[in-house]
Amino acid sequence: MSFSNLGLSDKVVAAVANAGYTIPTPIQAQAIPHVLARRDVLGIAQTGTGKTAAFVLPMLTMLEKGRARARMPRTLILEPTRELAAQVKENFDKYGAGQKLNVALIIGGVSFDDQDTKLMRGVDVLIATPGRLLDHSERGKLLLTGVELLVIDEADRMLDMGFIPDIERICKLVPFTRQTLFFTATMPTEIRRITETFLHNPVRVEVSKPASTAVTVTQSLVTSGREPHDKREVLRHLIRTAKDLQNAIIFCNRKREVALLHRSLQKHGFSAVALHGDMEQSARTAALDQFRKGEMPLLVASDVAARGLDIPEVSHVFNFDVPHHADDYVHRIGRTGRAGRAGTAISIVTPADEKSITAIEKLIGQTIPRAATDLPAASEPRQSTSERADSERPGRRGGRRARSPSHGEHAEPARHPAPAKPRGDGPAKPRGDGKTGSRPAASPPPSIGRPAAPATARDHQSEPADHSHLPAFLLRPIRARV
Ligand code: AMP
Repeated sequence: MSFSNLGLSDKVVAAVANAGYTIPTPIQAQAIPHVLARRDVLGIAQTGTGKTAAFVLPMLTMLEKGRARARMPRTLILEPTRELAAQVKENFDKYGAGQKLNVALIIGGVSFDDQDTKLMRGVDVLIATPGRLLDHSERGKLLLTGVELLVIDEADRMLDMGFIPDIERICKLVPFTRQTLFFTATMPTEIRRITETFLHNPVRVEVSKPASTAVTVTQSLVTSGREPHDKREVLRHLIRTAKDLQNAIIFCNRKREVALLHRSLQKHGFSAVALHGDMEQSARTAALDQFRKGEMPLLVASDVAARGLDIPEVSHVFNFDVPHHADDYVHRIGRTGRAGRAGTAISIVTPADEKSITAIEKLIGQTIPRAATDLPAASEPRQSTSERADSERPGRRGGRRARSPSHGEHAEPARHPAPAKPRGDGPAKPRGDGKTGSRPAASPPPSIGRPAAPATARDHQSEPADHSHLPAFLLRPIRARV
């Protein structure tokens, strides 16, 4: 099977060849001909399967004919997070370079004015997060009655993040006769209901879920005390003693834990960036860029923020928190050991995680070896009072329907069903108490390898940093946010 057999235009086939892809992935091979035949498609596929190109490529082919009118986009793609939306735009830039298409990104966290200008000019492809899209629509700046094709991507994540009522509203604003492409990794009841309501006689295309983990990933469990400061100590030890650690993603279940752990790692001299849904957009983009370019070797992230991101190969994945859903474990460790390369996935396990581990082992069909830590007993003093206070403080927001792994996490706020919240998906503000990972430390932590700066009274409450075992690449100074 090659791309030229799928019915794509010559321009698009050439663009794919330019991008270096020769063989369509299963989701592409199965979905593209149906999309081009104007059928509704229900695609059951996870990120990493090539599903973005499965809708981008036929859309580019279809959009070669026709022109956009002011304020009336021809196609609409809904994404749960700003990063995913930006990633889809990158796909259009990559494969659509030879076409003069207007592609607009309508996401929260950036000014309305520029978006208004773009919409006014006429848009062939509108890629949006639901809240901001509805804001534009309600302000009368956007008419969805010209939408010929609607893509709902990562629908199960939308459900987790409370976006389904927004999606239902948007589906009522686009013409009944539009074509709909719907992608989800799983089919919970509510998603099934939506597909029955909003898809017309869809073709179901399913690619197998990576329920088995890559054989090239060496997995292990390391036990820890249940307190966050115990886990942080274990993590630091694991990073310091890891073999062949090039770069790592460290997953936490909650965004406040991401922020806390990020700060703690920085304080201990590690070069780390954070990614979670409460960070300002510019900080999120900067963090990802730094990690992608290798300037920062450690990325502390939540599932929702990291979900679906096209992050290059990483050597290590650490589960600072064991995910509550086994699927998320597979997804997380799939970040390493790609393309036959060796990868390492280490999960820090507390007594409270045993049930989750049992479910994970059942899903992947193997027992994960338990590795002993040679962590020197009580080698480091406990966390500072402020750290402990923060880790024990309940989340600021609540009430959102969320699966446990992303509990308290929402990369892009839903507008419903939390009416009391500030409206829309406007800029995601850092916490007022300055405790987000997006905020650089008041003064950059001492560079590892150099003598530590004189300790302050506050420092004395926290762990002294022992950097002697750090790999050389971690010895780079930390840059303040740009
Ligand atoms: P996605 O599932 O859309 O997030 O895609 C995952 C990764 O697969 C991205 O880095 C794509 O650029 C890449 N990709 C997409 N299509 C192909 C293909 N046909 N062959 C190889 N890689 C691909």
